[in-house]
Amino acid sequence: MNVPLLDLRAQHATIKDAVMAAVNSVIERQQFIMGPEVGQLEVAVAKLSQVKHAIGCASGTDAILLPLWSLDLQPGDEVIAPAFTFFATAGTIHNTGGTPVFVDIEPGTFNVSAEAIEAAITPRTRAIVVVHLFGQMAAMEKILAVAAKRGIPVIEDAAQAIGARRRMDGVWRAAGETGWAGTLSFFPSKNLGGWGDGGMILTQDDATAARMRSLRLHGGTRQYHHDEVGTNSRLDTLQAAVLLVKLPYLSGWSAARRAKSLAYSAEFGSVPGVIPPAVDPDNEHIFHQYTLRVPRRDALMEHLKARGIGCAVYYPLALHLQPCFEYLGYRPGSLPVTERAMAEVVSLPVYPELTEAQQEAVVGAVREFYGSTSGDDGHVAG
Ligand SMILES: *Cc1c(COP(=O)(O)O)cnc(C)c1O
Repeated sequence: MNVPLLDLRAQHATIKDAVMAAVNSVIERQQFIMGPEVGQLEVAVAKLSQVKHAIGCASGTDAILLPLWSLDLQPGDEVIAPAFTFFATAGTIHNTGGTPVFVDIEPGTFNVSAEAIEAAITPRTRAIVVVHLFGQMAAMEKILAVAAKRGIPVIEDAAQAIGARRRMDGVWRAAGETGWAGTLSFFPSKNLGGWGDGGMILTQDDATAARMRSLRLHGGTRQYHHDEVGTNSRLDTLQAAVLLVKLPYLSGWSAARRAKSLAYSAEFGSVPGVIPPAVDPDNEHIFHQYTLRVPRRDALMEHLKARGIGCAVYYPLALHLQPCFEYLGYRPGSLPVTERAMAEVVSLPVYPELTEAQQEAVVGAVREFYGSTSGDDGHVAG
């Protein structure tokens, strides 16, 4: 059976009429730049993420870049970040003049460790970029406590975690809500994906919001008047129109990902050597990825691919070992927990439209590889 890692056509089929109508209305109006849909989406996403301000921009990468840029980093200024993440998390630090300082992760959640962050702080630390990896929030309450002691701003890279929540001091807080700035990506494969690139910056701070709105429009709030040098980093009206149609479905899609993930974990928990993803009990995980740790990982992937089952490694080469960051002086062994994850992880199909038969095929193929039989008739629970 063919089971792609992600099937965007299946999602499109469920919303085609509404999304085509929304796109057509933008085309009829021909207001492609900063049309009303951009502001409407900003208001809706701010509500979902429990923040005062949301500012659309051109990509999830720019959503990290603009807040970092506003810090006016000087040569030698350090920004702490995990190495087990997508490249943009650290490429933006380099491109805004900072020196990335990579720290290790927690083995269970794959999220950056608050203890490792604390140990990496120096007098040159100017910011911390936290990633809510695979759809589950990092331990923000611990990280914020470490940062607050020294007045260091925290950026939450929530590209994979829109709408994910964490119980902090008994209150459900959203991804991107509690840091100085939160960042979202609308890359097509994200949980809320557009028809191209797009991103958003979240913040509670009025001055930061105003600065982001200025930087994304060439440093001017009034057309042809520039208070500072910014850039062109707007969210297209067309993308905003697509995302406005999709947004009401997001919580249902995330719940479906969660249910499918729990069903996988109920099955894989009994396969010797296979470790299902840990969910921190204080987290509501949105499972952007369902990621196992497995023995003989590469051979398993060959086995799955031969049976038409999509799978992928996020991430095969952590950022501290990338050729472009050789100048930072990291070596194999610098971040042992990260490097072990690189060698052991594999992500399986977990999109909302994945059918029960498809999921059973994935479970069956994994069991077959490890010579493990199911305790029941092979039916996937849930
Ligand atoms: C996708 C992603 C980004 C970048 O988003 P783009 O929209 O592709 O620029 C940044 N960080 C993480 C963790 C991501 O997964």
